[in-house]
This record gives sequence, C-alpha cells and structure tokens, in this order.
Amino acid sequence: MNTLTCANPACTDALHADSDHVRVEAEKKRMRDRDETQEYYFHPECWTAVSASWEKPA
Ligand SMILES: [Zn+2]
Repeated sequence: MNTLTCANPACTDALHADSDHVRVEAEKKRMRDRDETQEYYFHPECWTAVSASWEKPA
C-alpha cells in the first residue's frame, strides 16, 4: 500500500494513497530552465484547514 505524507505541518496521521486525499500541484516557473512541479498531499480536512488559513492570514 502506498503511503503519502500529509503536507499539513500540524498533522501526524498517515495518509494512504487509496483513501480520500487532496493533491496540490505547485508549479515553479523558471525562465532559463524547465518548470518544476512540486506535489503536496493533504487529508481533505487538513486541506480545508490549511486553505482557510491561507485565505485569512492571522
Ligand atoms: Zn493531514
């Protein structure tokens, strides 16, 4: 079974690739080189918490 790492720093639970999860792609634009795509995985509830804090910075 494939295990992912949840990108929520507050989360320590295992994240399994065959259960519900959110994948986020962050593309790094580079002028002189190939673009790099970084992938992050979250539990659905962790993504909700993290994206809510992005929208409303403390
Ligand atoms: Zn999580």
